[in-house]
Amino acid sequence: MASVRETFRVPQGPVDLTAIDPRGRPTGPKDRAAAAKAVTELGTRLDAGQEALYAEGAGGGTRSVLLVLQGMDTSGKGGVISHAVGLVNPQGVQIASFKKPTAEERRHDFLWRIRKQLPGAGRIGVFDRSHYEDVLVVRVEELVPTDVWQARYGEIREFEAELAAQGVTIAKVMLHISPEEQAERLLARLDDPHKRWKYNPGDLDARARWDDYQEAYATALELCDSDAAPWYVVPSDRKWYRNWAVAAILAETLDEMAPAFPEPDFDVAAERTRLLRSTNPSS
Ligand code: AMP
Ligand code: MG
Repeated sequence: MASVRETFRVPQGPVDLTAIDPRGRPTGPKDRAAAAKAVTELGTRLDAGQEALYAEGAGGGTRSVLLVLQGMDTSGKGGVISHAVGLVNPQGVQIASFKKPTAEERRHDFLWRIRKQLPGAGRIGVFDRSHYEDVLVVRVEELVPTDVWQARYGEIREFEAELAAQGVTIAKVMLHISPEEQAERLLARLDDPHKRWKYNPGDLDARARWDDYQEAYATALELCDSDAAPWYVVPSDRKWYRNWAVAAILAETLDEMAPAFPEPDFDVAAERTRLLRSTNPSS
């Protein structure tokens, strides 16, 4: 059976997102109950993997994980952070959200603010939006001249290859939703007073450019997918399926890294003897 990552990996060549069903369930649990059970098991695996990675980092290891989350408004980037990333010990996780750049950020190269948020050794970094906004919203809204955003695909490839060479294991996930599902979720944000704070009138402007965004996503996925920094497309109209899929991708990624607990830099037997003497000085 193909691994979860193989199943969700964006196909090689030109990307046609309309060929990927946002309600699809190409692998894994068939219903909510099965997903809940699977997620509990994934939690155990993720927890063990994260702790080993953290220990490896504490012992001088330099490796880390970077999970990039992208998707249209309401696709569930926040939901994935609470329900999938939330399965691991928060002490080992570094979350960064990228909004409209500040005046200071705009004065620098588009990767400047990204580099500042890269995970430290032994950590799992999570990007809620990322440098990809600079070839998504920036391209659709024509926020910079065409030649500038066009050059960014190559710059992103180089940047990610450089990170991979430094020991950052990258997994990039597009949360793929349908416009119908987005309409329902936006309506819920308008109608439910407890969700209203998440609503942003600007979301409707992005929604109006749906096809342009899908095209921009397709180009980014096609040009910036590599073995060093793979792109995965996760059907996200069903929240339980989406959360399971991202947790499974993360668990497989950690399993493959097989982080190693460090060897002690002290004499264990000698320390044991010393400890036993100290706890029971009369013996
Ligand atoms: P949200 O993630 O819903 O809080 O919204 C963040 C907003 O910031 C979205 O509308 C993004 O498109 C926007 N944004 C993020 N990065 C950039 C960028 N580099 N340039 C312009 N807008 C951006
Ligand atoms: Mg939003």
